Amino acid sequence: MNITDDDSPNGARNAMFTPPGDGAGAERAGRPRKALLSSSMVGSTNRGRVLQTLFDLGPTSRADLARLAGVNRTTISGIVQPLIDDQVLVESDPIPANPGGGKPARPLWFSPKARPICGVLLMPDAVHACVSTLDGKIEAERKMALPDGRGPVQPIIETIAECVGDTLAKARRTPFGIGVGVGGMVDTDRGSIVTVNLAPALDRYPLADELGRRFGLPVKLDHHPRALLLGDRWFGAGRGVRQFAVVFTGEVLGGALYFDGHLYRGTAGAGGELGHTFVQLDGELCRCGRRGCWDTIATLSWLRREAASAGLPEPELIDAGRLVDMAAHQVPGAEKLLDRYARNVAVGIANLQQTVAPNIFILHGDVVLGGDRLLEAIAAHVRAMVPARPGGKIEFIAGDAGDGAALLGAAGLVISELLQLPI
Ligand SMILES: [Zn+2]
Repeated sequence: MNITDDDSPNGARNAMFTPPGDGAGAERAGRPRKALLSSSMVGSTNRGRVLQTLFDLGPTSRADLARLAGVNRTTISGIVQPLIDDQVLVESDPIPANPGGGKPARPLWFSPKARPICGVLLMPDAVHACVSTLDGKIEAERKMALPDGRGPVQPIIETIAECVGDTLAKARRTPFGIGVGVGGMVDTDRGSIVTVNLAPALDRYPLADELGRRFGLPVKLDHHPRALLLGDRWFGAGRGVRQFAVVFTGEVLGGALYFDGHLYRGTAGAGGELGHTFVQLDGELCRCGRRGCWDTIATLSWLRREAASAGLPEPELIDAGRLVDMAAHQVPGAEKLLDRYARNVAVGIANLQQTVAPNIFILHGDVVLGGDRLLEAIAAHVRAMVPARPGGKIEFIAGDAGDGAALLGAAGLVISELLQLPI
């Protein structure tokens, strides 16, 4: 942790903090650069770093925070006391110190009285909303089916608003804001949807503005795989990790990257279209209109089609869990298809590893249903495709097969944006 001392005249110089959206790109575009630092920014940066450290380490005492930051306890108290006064943090009962130790420690953690956060997961056919505590405990949730995405947009928006409104009505206090994970392309600068395959009614819809107007709360919208990544970063296996990638498989294929402590979005959120990176020149036609995308060889629709050609029973119902089960029962053709599925998922992961070496991959969605058997098969293929190198140990972690991680991750967008954590 790198805390900047507010009181120190040199503090600002040490902070090395550039506000989001500022930087060389803005300068090249002829826009004026914002001031690199202001004292309020240094304050919020320090506050963000303290909160980020708590997320990474769990409950931590002021003394330990001070030790980790290399500053004195007065500086730490200057940062945490306003957070305690605002009921964001709470100091627990004293834990007796070790014999001969100093004062008893009182770990700081997120207060159960803190304002909650609201997460919304918007998929082409359903909307799922939750209210969660700052440490990721879901207190209320509701899921609703959406009207046909090829019809008019208004009934879809009314359903989304009803789902979010009902969930917000169950919140103990007014949430800090609403985070929305969208199963489609988004413009994160404008808070609008670019396109949702299977629900063209939502194309170009300014959803963040609409929800903000209806509920009077700040709204942040992002791509579904990046919401998944935030779910892992704040509440899951990505806590305290400097870099990792998430990969989602299912009806669609997607992923997101956490680089050196930052979620990587690309300009206006255009990055991370991993499902539409090319793995086969002149390969099969993809739903995006191009050919040979990773999406064409590793989604459930590919798996079901191949299960039908292999003569497996009930191919239209097959998923990774059923396929692993069939392979275990030596259903003819199942073992071979399982290996091809693993290899096809592995090829995109291997490309990602060769490009940016995240080394840790958290897999979500269908492949999680395949359990250790499928995870190990994917890992073996990736390791066979990527040359061994120092520092290149690759780890695979099973995430969530359902909505949970993405839903919490959507709420995590609020943490990243509104608590001004440096992500
Ligand atoms: Zn494509």
